[in-house]
Amino acid sequence: MKVTVDADRCRGHGACLGLCPEVFTLNVDGYAETAPGAVPDHLIGAVEEAVSACPEQAIVVE
Ligand code: SF4
Repeated sequence: MKVTVDADRCRGHGACLGLCPEVFTLNVDGYAETAPGAVPDHLIGAVEEAVSACPEQAIVVE
C-alpha cells in the first residue's frame, strides 16, 4: 500500500494524524503529508481508519 494526500483537498483538520501519526504529519503550512515509501503492514489498518475519517476525502491509496 502507498498513500498520499491530495493537497488541493486537505484542509488540515488533523484527523489522520490522530489515527496514524507514524504515517501522517502536518507540514509547515498546516496540511497533511505522508511518510515516503510503502506503508508497513502493521500500519495498514490505521491508515484505512484515517482514510475513512478524513472529512475531505483527501487521502489517496494506491
Ligand atoms: S484528515 Fe484529511 S483533511 Fe484532515 S489533515 Fe488529514 S488528510 Fe488533511
